[in-house]
Amino acid sequence: MRGDCLCGEISFEIVGTLPKLYQCHCSLCRKQGGSSSNTGLIIAKENFRWLIGEEKTSSYVKATGFRSDFCSKCGSVVPNPFRDKPYVWVPAGSLDDTMPLEIAAHICVGSKASWDLISSGAVQCDTMPTLLELIDLIAPST
Ligand SMILES: [Zn+2]
Ligand SMILES: [Zn+2]
Repeated sequence: MRGDCLCGEISFEIVGTLPKLYQCHCSLCRKQGGSSSNTGLIIAKENFRWLIGEEKTSSYVKATGFRSDFCSKCGSVVPNPFRDKPYVWVPAGSLDDTMPLEIAAHICVGSKASWDLISSGAVQCDTMPTLLELIDLIAPST
């Protein structure tokens, strides 16, 4: 599966079995993505590689540690490697939609926007699970 940003100057590839998606409804993700939530995947570092444009990535880090990586040309959200763990967060909307994916978990539902109606039957967590709990929730079906 490949993905890229709006202008196409940053692109990447994911190999291996894809996990499911999760959606974070927290206020930080809302501001960062400009909508009700952020939808993403967590990929093992060895299954992710940049194809072009990694050096065009810019970062913004809030004092709390919340980090957003984006294309310095078009501003699109781009994959964001965890600094201290062997995983990469990948924004689902940047992927070429070439295979079926599903949302397995909604997180930070307790702080969602009043106008955000979650219609899927996926698991809902009121707060932010730990990274390992989240990886477990979005593990591919076997
Ligand atoms: Zn771009
Ligand atoms: Zn969030």
